Amino acid sequence: MFAHVKKAKAWEGRCCVKKKSGDIIRVRCSATPVIDQDRRIGQVVYTYAPHSEVEVLGDIQNSVTSLKDADLPPLPNDIYYRRGSVRSLINYTGDLRSMRSEGGVRAISRRPSMARIHSMTIEAPITKVVNMIYMAQDNCPNTVIPILDKVIDILRSSELYSPFTENVSEQDEMSSEYVEGLMSRTMRKHSQQGLASPGGVGTAVNARYPLPPSGPPMSLTTASPDIRVLIEKDQTWDIDVLELERISNKRPLLYLGLKIFSRLGVGEYLHCSERVLQTWLQLIEQGYHSTNSYHNSTHAADVLQATAYFLSRDRLKDTLTKQDQVGSVIAAAIHDVDHPGRTNVFLANAQAPLALCYNDRAILENHHAAHAFRVTLADDSCNIFKNLPMDEYKQLREIIVDMVLATEMTKHFEHVNKFVTSINTSRVTDDDRSSVLSSHLGHEVDLMSSENRALVKRMIIKCADIANPCRPLALCKEWANRIAEEYFRQTTEEKERGLPVVMPVFDRNTCNIPKSQTTFMDIFIMNTFDAWDNFADVGELMENLQANYDYWQSEAALIARKAGEQRAESLHSS
Ligand code: 5GP
Ligand code: MN
Repeated sequence: MFAHVKKAKAWEGRCCVKKKSGDIIRVRCSATPVIDQDRRIGQVVYTYAPHSEVEVLGDIQNSVTSLKDADLPPLPNDIYYRRGSVRSLINYTGDLRSMRSEGGVRAISRRPSMARIHSMTIEAPITKVVNMIYMAQDNCPNTVIPILDKVIDILRSSELYSPFTENVSEQDEMSSEYVEGLMSRTMRKHSQQGLASPGGVGTAVNARYPLPPSGPPMSLTTASPDIRVLIEKDQTWDIDVLELERISNKRPLLYLGLKIFSRLGVGEYLHCSERVLQTWLQLIEQGYHSTNSYHNSTHAADVLQATAYFLSRDRLKDTLTKQDQVGSVIAAAIHDVDHPGRTNVFLANAQAPLALCYNDRAILENHHAAHAFRVTLADDSCNIFKNLPMDEYKQLREIIVDMVLATEMTKHFEHVNKFVTSINTSRVTDDDRSSVLSSHLGHEVDLMSSENRALVKRMIIKCADIANPCRPLALCKEWANRIAEEYFRQTTEEKERGLPVVMPVFDRNTCNIPKSQTTFMDIFIMNTFDAWDNFADVGELMENLQANYDYWQSEAALIARKAGEQRAESLHSS
């Protein structure tokens, strides 16, 4: 506490005090230095109130800290500050408004001049919030005080937006594996052996990066008629990207990219020629591994198409700037480039070069963004940013990097929850085209503020990235098989190399794919798309989503029934 106060920082925490009865209790306490006009610590405001669940610690006098010996800065006499023992501090507050709490211990009221703290220049937003709640506690019914105590406890957590992983983990094996597999940094469970030897899988950090393709770039005009017909559907949700993959010889990103970039005027915005755009799209598409069953350039094309589809919704058109739109489609195109077909947790467990490079944090997402910029800037023939003024380039880069990093699944609930709490709107109606919305709390929400636009853009790419369960059933099924296949390969490699098996349910021989889909939808999709639909009005997706969910559920039940029958049969025969 004193270390903080001396540095003019506020401190909050628990400390032990001795009651008259001799009992030692633990109380919540805060010390807030107040800076005077000379920028010195003018006074220190101490507050303390019994924790809602007061802990009586018995006679442990020795553990009580004495303030007497503390080396405090010399402070002017101040009615809120007294040198002395903690005990004398608590006695001193006796003349302030007090109340009884459940434990029969005195709760100490906040000081009337607490308002002064709000003018402090050193206060962090969270300190401000906590202090406001303290003030509210002064004027609220006794029954509300313990609730606000709990609120403060929650606010003190540093993981404010990453929820309930424990609750989810308790549900069933499949759910907990999803949560562990997609939302934690390294694997704690299922470790078969110690650490694997370093190296191995993953893109080598110092690998030589591909140069732009030589020869004339491919263009829309030279594309086959069936490709041109197919990409005319680029604005419809049921466009068949898998068919485009087939007829374009695995170049869906190039053709869909050219179409979408041209419709959005990306070349004009960047002052860059069609040729540079073509070369760039080819270069990025080359960076995707066609050997991955899921994370290949078809997934990138799929996410790009979904992103552009979202951008065309009225609410989004009214909210985002041209720069946002251009940044969004570039981010979608690059968002999984050079993906090795293994998850972040796998790479961390395998101590792959990329994991070491990024310290096990957002390994792949950092790599996708870094790789894309590295190859783009490496040669003028593919540098789509070459003609942008530096400040515009920097802003655009910020948007792109932020969006790519937002696809990291450990941050899934953080992004969705921030979006919901900041932009929680009543249902969008046709006549409501204003960019100022009313939140459910009655506040006006300025969608055009850069913070809110950032939240919207993160939701765009996040929803586009995991929108495959909202595609028409045939597409949805193929994507589900592809992601399962990629996970199967990972599980096989983990077993071969003696690495922890991150998601054991993704075993080729035993996996119930329909169940894996309903679980994924339950945890990551349903709530996310409810929130997204409420904002972006994507009814078509919601209809597919419900139909696909019903389909997977009936398939999962079928598999479960067959498995039951088989078990019964084998019991019978033995
Ligand atoms: P990405 O790696 O594509 O940027 O992030 C999205 C992640 O969500 C994928 O890696 C994958 O783990 C998960 N995901 C996306 N769609 C599906 C799906 O349909 N089923 C399952 N099981 N996982 C999915
Ligand atoms: Mn992706």
